[in-house]
Amino acid sequence: MLVLSYVHQLFNTEQCHVYIHTLRWKERPLQCPRCQSQAVDPWGNYHYRPGCKRYWCNGCKRTFNDLTNTLLHQSKRSLPHWILATFLLCLACSSRRIAKEVGVHIRTSYRWCWWLRNAALSYEMERLLEGTVEADELYHTAGQKGQAHHGGKKSLGRRKKREPGRGHYDKDRPAIIAWVSRQGAVVIQATKDFTVKTVQKAAEIAVQTGSRLYTDSASSYRAVKGYVHEFVNHTQKEYARGDVHENRAECLFSLLKPYLRVFRGVSKGNLAGYVGFFQFLRNFRQRNAFEPAELILQAALDPSVASRARKGEFVRCFDHFDLLQTAIN
Ligand SMILES: [Zn+2]
Repeated sequence: MLVLSYVHQLFNTEQCHVYIHTLRWKERPLQCPRCQSQAVDPWGNYHYRPGCKRYWCNGCKRTFNDLTNTLLHQSKRSLPHWILATFLLCLACSSRRIAKEVGVHIRTSYRWCWWLRNAALSYEMERLLEGTVEADELYHTAGQKGQAHHGGKKSLGRRKKREPGRGHYDKDRPAIIAWVSRQGAVVIQATKDFTVKTVQKAAEIAVQTGSRLYTDSASSYRAVKGYVHEFVNHTQKEYARGDVHENRAECLFSLLKPYLRVFRGVSKGNLAGYVGFFQFLRNFRQRNAFEPAELILQAALDPSVASRARKGEFVRCFDHFDLLQTAIN
């Protein structure tokens, strides 16, 4: 028989509130989230939420607290739940695992995970690589996990058999293109296919024109315009020619594959979101997993980010599956 079931029961809730208070008002003055008035007074505490401070706004004559209009607003769960969930997300745990460790329903944790991934992607919106950039592609098997056909029985085809040849979104093997700057930053895109048009458009989104591109000899890269391009020929067993190689991009895929494996098959509709979050983790890899977690919490406490994250807008910006359509129009 266990003495305690969850690690976060040892967290001090009041200390969590002090931390969240500091994080929320770190870069802005204490102001009303509704009318932005700074004429606010303390207005006591909540007896059921120890440590959560309440304020009175003299502008709109209403009360608010540190969580009003953030992603954590009106959550029945305590701050230790949220902080631990964010930390586990940065350790690449699946929402199922987080549900188990934090002690919430799988549906709650699934919703939180997508909100938090959206908040993380708010840091990746403007990412554009420059200098010397390596590129490589991968075809990832992604089917219809979690989506029932025509309202019928739940689809079981989470692990698809792979078909021979090059992948395509319609064949449930969308392409993933990785762009890795030699300075360290990365951009990873899930795309419908690997045609010249898609790769051209993908390159324009990820890499500053005029930069140096190192790739393999795939014809789609060779047709890309606007970059200084050099490639190695894998078919002739050439993997590096002096400075020209794509080992970093290949290395990134060797990390992405086990990361995606944790989710036990992903739906192609969600692939862009998972891949985008992996991009965030790579670009903010720090000394430990709590540093990206703090960045996510900080974004989640920003009302403008929070409202867009709840609607899934950031992940939608990362959805490059319609790249081909946009390229044609
Ligand atoms: Zn107000």
